[in-house]
Amino acid sequence: MTNYRVKVSNRAKHVSLKVTPTDGLVVVVPKGFNQSLLDDLVASRQAWIEKTLRRYKDFSFQEKEATLPDEICLPALGESWTVELIKTDASTVRVTVPQDAQLRVIGDIDNKPACQKALRRWLMRHANTQLLPLLDLASKETGLSFRKATIRGQRTRWGSCSSTGAINLNFQLLFVTPEMAHYVFVHELSHTVHLNHSKHFYTLLASFIPNYKAIEAQLKQAWRSMPVWLQQL
Ligand SMILES: [Zn+2]
Repeated sequence: MTNYRVKVSNRAKHVSLKVTPTDGLVVVVPKGFNQSLLDDLVASRQAWIEKTLRRYKDFSFQEKEATLPDEICLPALGESWTVELIKTDASTVRVTVPQDAQLRVIGDIDNKPACQKALRRWLMRHANTQLLPLLDLASKETGLSFRKATIRGQRTRWGSCSSTGAINLNFQLLFVTPEMAHYVFVHELSHTVHLNHSKHFYTLLASFIPNYKAIEAQLKQAWRSMPVWLQQL
């Protein structure tokens, strides 16, 4: 599952993929092109896309103006956090939680990228303590066990599962609905039985989530509703 923008071009004769430092993956399509084919096309170029995105990762943010959120909503957990900025003489930036539903960004707050990175680190920690127990719960409900689980910051995947039963979950799952997050948990847990997207895999998945297709489609769209300030990192 890959995050991309679609650009319709009057001049383009073919579909082309390009990766830019500011926009990430852009799919240029000729006018009138059937866009329902794009997911498969993007999936088939996954290796190239990930390689190219990695190359840009380090300087993708520098040119862009940073904006900071004054509120962070985490639908997966039903949480909403206010964000308060406090300037100090510190040369670094850190995030504290003075009380529930309240975040404080403290330090060199004029350094916006540093603030964004500090918030991102907090989101990773929060995902660690809040999303992983939900994966445990899904594991108990389905009877599918895994070896270990880690929160990651992948750019193009919601989750993954290795042949050794190690599950990686994207911290950005915090920003999807509980139903969508649960789908990803069960999807990755089902990979502990079938390490592919075969018919058997989907039969198993459907036994837990009969309407999985609709949720899968929502998840593909969900990349586009991730907070903009997070995408600029
Ligand atoms: Zn899968």
